[in-house]
Amino acid sequence: MIKLRNVEKNYRRGAEEVRALRGVDLDIAAGEFAAVIGPSGAGKTTLLHILGCLDLPSRGEMHFDGVRVDKMRESELVTLRRSKIGFIFQQFYLIPGLSVVDNIALPLLFSKTRVERGRIEELARMVGLEQRLRHVPAQLSGGEMQRTAIARALVNDPEVILADEPTGNLDSANSEKIFDILHKLHENGLTVLMITHNPELAGRTDRTIQIRDGVIST
Ligand code: ADP
Repeated sequence: MIKLRNVEKNYRRGAEEVRALRGVDLDIAAGEFAAVIGPSGAGKTTLLHILGCLDLPSRGEMHFDGVRVDKMRESELVTLRRSKIGFIFQQFYLIPGLSVVDNIALPLLFSKTRVERGRIEELARMVGLEQRLRHVPAQLSGGEMQRTAIARALVNDPEVILADEPTGNLDSANSEKIFDILHKLHENGLTVLMITHNPELAGRTDRTIQIRDGVIST
């Protein structure tokens, strides 16, 4: 479903060029549940952003569902992201003044999709937040905030969930709940990729993608 061929990503930092990805070949099959691991600065987030079409490779080829992505215009990338990809971040990125329900519904403001209120509440129930619908983020635990963010990532019915250290700010009990939800999404047919520093969680996915110095080693 996602194919990278000889992908490089360079960033400019003043006069210096940072080579964040150095010739990455990677195939992600539909329905896979994979962990991305590696030391800080290895290129994990860069890889996830490219897989999620948030950023384009500097060089190399990328295909998503058989369609060439690396030459797309930003407007085409936006359409692809909205229809097929859901993101989850370590810092949750909820809107403080909005309730759980309105945070979950937020992506719909930017798309033409009409989604019934019942569907939003069903997503909230799916992540165990049916008792928190009217709460704002400040009234939630970290785990509840991340579960709100997961429901938000699902609202456009994506094919792929990309999670950048989704349990990085959570204690082990809450991490476990988040992992269980991601696992359930995988069982329901979604493709799920998760960056993690937790080797135990990585070991419970179906595949570990190890990256070091911008190169995939497994
Ligand atoms: P990881 O997620 O494994 O910690 P990153 O993908 O965030 O690694 O970063 C890989 C390398 O690219 C690091 O050296 C980082 O400093 C650099 N980098 C990441 N994003 C940028 C950016 N926007 N501008 C300049 N350098 C960046």
